[in-house]
Amino acid sequence: MIERISQDGPVFSVEFFPPKDEIGEAELWRAIRKLEPLDPAFVSVTYGAGGSSRERTIRTTAGIATDTTLVPMAHLTAVAHSRSQLRHVIGAYAGAGIRNVLAVRGDPPGDPLGEWIPHPEGLTYAEELVDLVRSLGDFCVGVAAFPYGHPRSPDAESDLRHLVAKIRAGADFAISQLFLEPEGFLRLRDRFVAVGSDVADVPLLPGVMPLTTLRTLRRGPELSGAPLPPELVERLERYADDPVAFRAAGLDATAELCGKLLAEGVDGLHFYTLNRSSATVELVRRLGLVEHRR
Ligand code: FAD
Repeated sequence: MIERISQDGPVFSVEFFPPKDEIGEAELWRAIRKLEPLDPAFVSVTYGAGGSSRERTIRTTAGIATDTTLVPMAHLTAVAHSRSQLRHVIGAYAGAGIRNVLAVRGDPPGDPLGEWIPHPEGLTYAEELVDLVRSLGDFCVGVAAFPYGHPRSPDAESDLRHLVAKIRAGADFAISQLFLEPEGFLRLRDRFVAVGSDVADVPLLPGVMPLTTLRTLRRGPELSGAPLPPELVERLERYADDPVAFRAAGLDATAELCGKLLAEGVDGLHFYTLNRSSATVELVRRLGLVEHRR
């Protein structure tokens, strides 16, 4: 899969979550079918907090592998899993034909900022998960990156060091947490590239949340720790009572953010879709990311 990300010219990819019921399942598959002809570099499926979605993540990702032309990537977290349980899930991924894994540590169940307590027979950091996935087969492995530092990190320097450690442990690329202005991501990318020639060419994909509703504007920064720019709030909140106008203005703002990132030569854009397709389809068309594929 890394060849699909590293190709000339920026790519796009999308993230889904495993649906909980039949309505969610139908919604997800509608989104998948709309995005499929646009040939994203990959589509990823999250792993629910604390392993709560283990079977659904495996089933959804396996379904994408067998029933579509898309290239799937399954997320995996270390929360509440022993090493042997993690090996079992990785084996299930391989058995279902899934060769791409996003190795993230996960947050403590309940309070994401609560104390991290590793499983007694488990792992403490994502770096160890990268190592484990790598040791079990020929997987393409991605990791998480944080433009404004991971909420638990004491400083940006140690956070960068730990990101680089994940790459040196065998990760092929990284996807960033969402953010609403380009500077934080671009600073991280500059510092990452400056670390050394062994990591300089590793793709770092910015994570983008299409701003379709007031909730996406408010909740995103709350969950990610990224700053909420006051000018953006002022620009969009005037449409708080008009969902159609909010969506139009929100997608304009998202397209501007993406345009600035593309102008700075990012490797691609990774869209957090919330299992919807129309905003992502609109954005990738506006940004010219699919012209050569249609
Ligand atoms: P780590 O890289 O292990 O970092 C965790 C903290 O420990 C950081 O503060 C880091 O700086 C520090 N650290 C790392 N290594 C060391 C070390 N050796 N010594 C000391 N400190 C260290 N969560 C889910 O539950 N399911 C998902 O599917 C999911 N997908 C995600 C996808 C993306 C693109 C992103 C950005 C996040 C995702 N998350 C997901 C959230 C993620 O699990 C949390 O943000 C988690 O708190 C951090 O994961 P990590 O892999 O970055 O952890």
